[in-house]
Amino acid sequence: MGKIIAVANQKGGVGKTTTSVNLGACLAYIGKRVLLVDVDPQGNATSGIGIEKADVEHCIYDILVDDVAAKDVIKPTAVENLDIIPATIQLAGAEIELVPTISREVRLKRALEAVKDNYDYMVIDCPPSLGLLTINALTASDAVLIPVQCEYYALEGLSQLLNTVRLVQKHLNTDLTIEGVLLTMLDARTNLGIQVIDEVKKYFQDKVYKTIIPRNIRLSEAPSHGQPIIIYDPRSRGAEVYLDLAKEVVVNG
Ligand code: ADP
Ligand code: MG
Repeated sequence: MGKIIAVANQKGGVGKTTTSVNLGACLAYIGKRVLLVDVDPQGNATSGIGIEKADVEHCIYDILVDDVAAKDVIKPTAVENLDIIPATIQLAGAEIELVPTISREVRLKRALEAVKDNYDYMVIDCPPSLGLLTINALTASDAVLIPVQCEYYALEGLSQLLNTVRLVQKHLNTDLTIEGVLLTMLDARTNLGIQVIDEVKKYFQDKVYKTIIPRNIRLSEAPSHGQPIIIYDPRSRGAEVYLDLAKEVVVNG
């Protein structure tokens, strides 16, 4: 049975999509069978892994709103061992359309359960909100990975996220654990980065991944080429650190 990891933080621009795409691709690179699940209406993980949105017939919207089976939505990517459930802007309506429906919080969980045996890992890229899409992701997952950007106010908003995690644990998914906190976009030239690392470690202690993601220009270029970093520039620092993260995730079990 595959392990399902939600990459969540309601703040935008903290590295959720970069982490989802590159953790997924690096897990695939080391031989794991991986499903990337795009649950953000912006569809950045979808385009970032090289899927043309114009070519997407069915997307995550059809799974959540129209009960289409996951197997009919899954697409292969150019990366060996890596499949994706894509998202398009159509998903923007789902949050509202789901409100009056039965079992609205467990739709993703049910859909992924049907394909869980085909994968070692599923990585879910969440939108920058704590609405029904993120609730679906947390309800479907075994663990949540929280990217935290190394900047001022890094911890701001995290209590809301942790509160949502607790509510999901209490009412919808008692098995959900915090997989880990990932420090992202570290600028090693500044003292600020070091301060933030200390602060986050004080708060989350052994939940913080040993791997820290630095700012790396190649990581920001790769999505416009529709490639994960391990394909776009396998020798870059970005590729090295996301490979380290993938290994850490595997070792953590
Ligand atoms: P989120 O999904 O949380 O909104 P993204 O992963 O899209 O965040 O990252 C926000 C922006 O920062 C994107 O333009 C992305 O390319 C860039 N970025 C993310 N991580 C890094 C990094 N380690 N180094 C440089 N740029 C990064
Ligand atoms: Mg994103």
